[in-house]
Amino acid sequence: VSVQDQITIFEVGARDGLQNEAKPISLEDKKTFVTGLAAAGLRQIELGAFVRPDKVPQMADTDELYRLLQSGEWSLREPLDFWALVPNEKGLERAVEGGVKNIAVFTAATDGFSLKNTGRAVKESLDLYGPLIKKALKSGMRVRGYVSTVFGCPYEGKVDPQKGIQVTKKLLDFGVEQVSLGDTIGVATPKGVDEAVEPLLASFGHEKIAVHFHDTWGAALVNAFRSFELGVRTFDSSAGGLGGCPYAPGATGNLATEDLVYLFEKMGVQTGVNFEKLCQTSLEIHQKMKRAVSSRALQAYAASC
Ligand code: MG
Repeated sequence: VSVQDQITIFEVGARDGLQNEAKPISLEDKKTFVTGLAAAGLRQIELGAFVRPDKVPQMADTDELYRLLQSGEWSLREPLDFWALVPNEKGLERAVEGGVKNIAVFTAATDGFSLKNTGRAVKESLDLYGPLIKKALKSGMRVRGYVSTVFGCPYEGKVDPQKGIQVTKKLLDFGVEQVSLGDTIGVATPKGVDEAVEPLLASFGHEKIAVHFHDTWGAALVNAFRSFELGVRTFDSSAGGLGGCPYAPGATGNLATEDLVYLFEKMGVQTGVNFEKLCQTSLEIHQKMKRAVSSRALQAYAASC
């Protein structure tokens, strides 16, 4: 199988998804959800975030999830990589304590968003991450980077593609193994993908660049496909499309993993994911959360059962 024919899905439902849902879920339900995702074949799974529990209560159980993994009380048969977000030194300490192997740092293409999200301008966040990434790499961790608002910003509007490109280069310079380019408010179009993603692929190759689309305006899958045509092979998505959009209340958030898996598998591109098992896991968590399904592929699957 050539690289042309397979993609890697970076499943963000348990972190990015659940964090942006109003309804909290129990530790047990979260474990069941993640166990189901792994059983469906997902191998890169975002599990939590070492952020302040008072600010982000949905992620307050991250330390406990890692403790359960570390102690073997929660064991998964599948070989997989769990990832956790680390916003600062304090978060890194918690990650080290929890035996975390893979972390993600996050910044943005625009100061407007970065200031609102973390209280730091982009440059300040990069100044903070330089030494933090070094420390994490030294301790043997793998580090991934997220850049939000590459294609549009809720505070600054249209974003010059050069902004996302420069921040991405900086993170790669610091040694992160891959940067995920985020369309935080779901306004990207294939034209914007060409402008922001193509130059980065040309400079760094497909292993260093991932994309993270939101479906707010219904263009996430189109943008994912355009990225694939350009050479992207790593896609972030969320089971069932979990995660709303805090900047457009009521709108859908993340690209749904089911939509991505359905499209690519039908085209003969291997995702490694069992569509049916994934759908069952997603339907289960949607029922527990009493949440309507936003993924089109998941809706069609549910209607066909
Ligand atoms: Mg997202």
